[in-house]
Amino acid sequence: MELWQEMLRQSIDSADQLAETFGFDKETVQKINRMYPIRINPYYLSLIRYKGDPIYLQCLPDAVELEDISAPEDPLNEDADSPVPSITHRYPDRVLFLVTSQCSMYCRFCTRKRKVGDSAKISMKFIQSGISYIAAHPEVRDVILSGGDPFMLTDYMLEKILAGLRAIPHVEIIRIGTKMPCVLPQRVTPKLCNMLKKYHPLYINTHFNHPWEITPESRRACSLLADAGVPLGNQMVLMKGVNDDPQVVKELMQKLLACRVRPYYIYQADITKGTNHFRTPISVGLDIMDQLRGHTSGLAVPYYVIDAPGGGGKIPLLPQYVIGRNGNQVILRNYKYDIFTYPDVEESPKRPAKQRFMRKKAKKVYDPDRLRESAAADRE
Ligand SMILES: *Cc1c(COP(=O)(O)O)cnc(C)c1O
Ligand code: SF4
Repeated sequence: MELWQEMLRQSIDSADQLAETFGFDKETVQKINRMYPIRINPYYLSLIRYKGDPIYLQCLPDAVELEDISAPEDPLNEDADSPVPSITHRYPDRVLFLVTSQCSMYCRFCTRKRKVGDSAKISMKFIQSGISYIAAHPEVRDVILSGGDPFMLTDYMLEKILAGLRAIPHVEIIRIGTKMPCVLPQRVTPKLCNMLKKYHPLYINTHFNHPWEITPESRRACSLLADAGVPLGNQMVLMKGVNDDPQVVKELMQKLLACRVRPYYIYQADITKGTNHFRTPISVGLDIMDQLRGHTSGLAVPYYVIDAPGGGGKIPLLPQYVIGRNGNQVILRNYKYDIFTYPDVEESPKRPAKQRFMRKKAKKVYDPDRLRESAAADRE
């Protein structure tokens, strides 16, 4: 057994252990555990500094999870865009491929909170049908392995999936979404990296939420992956009490860059049942973005997105930089809130961009078929 597998076996996952170690009420924890799985591996546990700190909040259950009964279980409507159980096909050219339900820790804020840990909902037995779906859909040029955490699979199983995807000529890039570099960096071994690098172009998005998660172990994991030629990105979830502070986020983003990880997304917390206590106002996210852009390396500035409830996909949000317009003069402000005037170029009178945009918008509202026709005509 490899070290990471041994560490997993030593995870805290029972009501008894939680009552003993953290003084939880056993009955409450049992109730939570039945609804949403609990697992804290010894590495992530060791990062906790005090009760209620940003690490603690992410991994230890809270009775308020049970009070949140109004939010949906599948807020992004992933099931509706799911042609086969393991695939979510929402965007034209890429799919999400769920390859396992297992994680090395069950994050209390997880969007798929009711699915993770449940192998009836996400399972290896759906892998072949996922690969067949992708093979039958030539428009899919980008496959994102997700779950659960794909790195919970053994190197052998993961390689079978990667080899299966690489055998499909229209699959250009493969991405893996894994939290392991952050929550169980021991999983990233030289053996794993040697296997991964046979399947380039391969991208990995990992998931750090707080600067305390950047440790010698996680640095080593990111180094091994980067040395294997894998471009690394990070997706952070914005959470109350964890990282809803511009200084904390800036420190995290800078530390990630030093680990060769490029910040990719900051997600507004989804409206998932059992996670309501983590949500923040949109103004908090906008303020964070405002205090990143210009104040530190542009490379440290990710996109701030809301995954639209009901399955509309990711929608980017930016602070307001255009203050107003006076004829051709556009009034802008910079990161220090200094005001500048930019003389815009006259729009062509023949096909004013704004009118064209409005016309399309109106057609979209009233007549989607004609909108498609006009888009096709515009392209010609
Ligand atoms: C996030 C997501 C993707 C990938 O989106 P990118 O913006 O290309 O990173 C693909 N499919 C689904 C369903 C997603 O939620
Ligand atoms: S590792 Fe990812 S999929 Fe697993 S519980 Fe955490 S956020 Fe959810």
